[in-house]
Amino acid sequence: MAPPPHTKVAIIGSGPAAHTAAIYLSRAELKPVMYEGMLAGGTAAGGQLTTTTDIENYPGFAQGIGGSELMDQMRAQSERFGTEIITETITKVDLNQRPFKLWREYEDGEADEPAHTADAVIIATGANARRLALPGEETYWQNGISACAVCDGAVPIFRNKPLAVIGGGDSAAEEAMFLTKYGSHVTVLVRKDKLRASKAMAKRLLANPKVTVKFNHVAVEVQGENKPRGLMTHLKIKNVQSGAEEVMEANGLFYAVGHDPATAIFKGQVDTDEEGYIVTKPGTSYTSIPGVFAAGDVQDKRYRQAITSAGSGCIAALEAEKYLAELEDEIPLEKENQAKKPEVNGDAAPEYRSNPLL
Ligand SMILES: Cc1cc2nc3c(=O)[nH]c(=O)nc-3n(C[C@H](O)[C@H](O)[C@H](O)COP(=O)(O)OP(=O)(O)OC[C@H]3O[C@@H](n4cnc5c(N)ncnc54)[C@H](O)[C@@H]3O)c2cc1C
Repeated sequence: MAPPPHTKVAIIGSGPAAHTAAIYLSRAELKPVMYEGMLAGGTAAGGQLTTTTDIENYPGFAQGIGGSELMDQMRAQSERFGTEIITETITKVDLNQRPFKLWREYEDGEADEPAHTADAVIIATGANARRLALPGEETYWQNGISACAVCDGAVPIFRNKPLAVIGGGDSAAEEAMFLTKYGSHVTVLVRKDKLRASKAMAKRLLANPKVTVKFNHVAVEVQGENKPRGLMTHLKIKNVQSGAEEVMEANGLFYAVGHDPATAIFKGQVDTDEEGYIVTKPGTSYTSIPGVFAAGDVQDKRYRQAITSAGSGCIAALEAEKYLAELEDEIPLEKENQAKKPEVNGDAAPEYRSNPLL
């Protein structure tokens, strides 16, 4: 039986991180293969930006650019330099043995044979903002409802309008503070009777005159204009203690209830944190496995922007290129077992089993 196709580097994912890595690697003539996913995690190839309209904060587009249009451009640029893009989702990996093995959803070979092997892998599978499945959510998603205040807060529909944020953690507090620059007032709905945000952040939030925190409250329905592309105008909320419901004016609703990184297939192989994000050495794309690099939202729970994802995709490509060059020079494998314990967000990161480049 013929062995599966082998390449120097495989990229899993198709957002700004994956495409930036692909552009750099293909220009370096490393002939990367990208698995862009087929509705992986429910998101179209191209990633999260395909679910939104105008991107106004990606440099180089003075008038803004549509999310899907930006990703089409990135895809064309990856292909232009020779990236092979396969529209399939990777469903299983074996990163414990070299070469690394990848299995895809369809069209695999014999029984357990992987579809692909690679000397290096870049993981850029992104993350998905959690939704709440509220009545009205589908209708007003991106027509008032957003999961990213930094991305969408400045758009005209939110200017000087009452806005609401759902969540009680640091992200919710940060988003609410950010939105006070644009909205007339920001109401934060917190299901419990206290904030989970850090003390300092909670104090700042509660002291802000443009913010009202409603404890013990949840959103129950998003209401708005009843016409094609109509905007949200109101939010029905409920006091979870008394059961009392009220309808408040709100032209924007921002979810800050967490993200789910797309890391299920890597668990138990690459080190992840308690929320499932891949742990990388700060300032690099190095994971716990030499030759496996991570870029974009899959390893970044703080900034989560297209430009930061693209930047980390560039880093991953340059580091993969260096890794492959050193592999060709036959770096002694014993060196790989020099464990390092870099700091991650102030905590000791899981042990870096091996990485000859660190
Ligand atoms: C509604 C919305 C609006 C936003 N607006 C902005 C904005 O205006 N400006 C901004 O800077 N940022 C914005 N963002 C954030 C931005 O989209 C993300 O930070 C960025 O897309 C993350 O890029 P990424 O490369 O990490 O991967 P993602 O964009 O998350 O894409 C990863 C993709 O990889 C594919 N994939 C996943 N698993 C697999 C697998 N197993 N096999 C193959 N393929 C797989 C899927 O298609 C997945 O979507 C917005 C996000 C959302 C949700």
